Parts: sequence; C-alpha cells; structure tokens
Amino acid sequence: MKKLLTTTVMAASLSALALTGCTSTTSTGAVGVDRQQLLLVSSEQVLQLSAQSYNKTVQEARARRLLDTNTAQLNRLKKISNRLVGQVGVYRPDAAKWPWEVHTIKSNELNAFVMPGGKIMFYTGIIDRLNLTDDEIAAIMGHEMSHALREHSRERLSRQYATQTGIGVAASIFGLSQGQAQIANVAGDLGLSRPHSRTQEAEADQIGLELMARAGYNPQAAITLWQKMQRASQGEPPQFLSTHPSSNNRIAELQSLMPKVMPLYQRARR
Ligand SMILES: [Zn+2]
Repeated sequence: MKKLLTTTVMAASLSALALTGCTSTTSTGAVGVDRQQLLLVSSEQVLQLSAQSYNKTVQEARARRLLDTNTAQLNRLKKISNRLVGQVGVYRPDAAKWPWEVHTIKSNELNAFVMPGGKIMFYTGIIDRLNLTDDEIAAIMGHEMSHALREHSRERLSRQYATQTGIGVAASIFGLSQGQAQIANVAGDLGLSRPHSRTQEAEADQIGLELMARAGYNPQAAITLWQKMQRASQGEPPQFLSTHPSSNNRIAELQSLMPKVMPLYQRARR
C-alpha cells in the first residue's frame, strides 16, 4: 500500500513536472537541439537579476570612462548583433522582441558575454588582440546569444536550488509552493539535475552556428575563432576560455556541423 502510494505521488509529481518544470526553451532549428530543460526558477526572476547585474557593469565602466570608447567599434558590433537578432525567431519568436543591448568595455582582457535576456558585452581586447573579423565576432556573439535563447543560466540556477541549496531555501527564496518544492526534490532524486555545462556549451555552439549562417556570416569563422583562442591561450589563458574551454574536440564538432549550416549561409548570401 505504501509503495503504491509512493508510486502514485511520484507519478503525480512527474506529470506536474512535465507541465511546470520541464520544457524546451527553443525550437529545434536545422541543427536539431531539442533537449528538455528543468526550469523551476521563473524567467522573470532571472531577467531581474540579469538586468541589475548588467546595469551595474555598465555604470561602473561609464564611471571609469571605459564604456563605449570607440564609437566605430561599437557600431560595428551593433550592426552584427542586429543581423543576428533578425534570425532568433527561428528558435523562439519572443526573443525577436527582447530589449537586446550592446556595449563595449575598454580592456585588454579577452572576454565577451551575453547575459540572460540579451544583454551583450564585448571587451575591446578580444576584438583588437585577436584581430577578429566580422564573421568571427558573429561566431562569439551567436554562441553567447544562444546561451540566452536557451536560458542556460535559468537552468543552472534551477538545478542549484533544486539540489545543493536545499529545497526549503529554494522554496523561500523563489516563493515556490510546497508542491513545486516537492517536484524539485523528485527531479533531484531522478538525476534530472546532473551537470549540463558541457551539453550547454555544445548547444550554444550548434545554435550559434545556425544563427550566424542564417544572418549571412561564414560559419567557418567559428573554427578560425577557436583556433585563434587556442593560440592566445598559450601564454596567459584568456578570461573567455575559463568559461568556454576550447579543445580540438570542440573544433571537430563544429566542423561536423558544416554540412547542415553551409547551405543556410549560401542561401543568405544570395
Ligand atoms: Zn558558452
């Protein structure tokens, strides 16, 4: 009887999970990304954290006179981001209307990021020191934008609160109902919350490649970009590589996707 009850509760929780917690943030696209994601934390909560953090970074850079110091370079980045944003509807129509934002920070660091909701930041060092072409910039931007489209940060936060921090804390911080807290518990038990970071990186590579191809940027530049990154990492490893480990494996996987994305690029060029 007890076992039956447990099974019933599990089944009920799992069906609730399917409705509330587990979904895919994006359409599959030509590269075929269709992994289900555990999302217990709301988009709104993550976007609020993201906006606060991005605005703080922008304000600090402005106060130190390091923000958008090179207008021509900023305009170059904006042009590339506009073309990429024009293609995000393939993966999720809502993202075309996100308040995407682009800024630069004058810094020697090799770094760039996109925060949840489409807040883009490039350090001038990565463009200048790696002598990036527009296609290579599009490769970085497309990869980073894909993390935002897939809501990878939200997924990671959801996992942290479901497993490490404890259900009670998750429930109180994020205002989860007891039912949702139980779902998080069940999800942890079932191992749905194992680390995805390598998976997320691969997804961002795949989607990023498709975005740049559809926007008319040569996907081959993703490969030359990572080769430049690898060469640059022989001295002091670039900041970018600490969050995006490069490897021959990554380059090989990008190479294997070329037959899927080159036709999209050729069509966009016509
Ligand atoms: Zn990444």
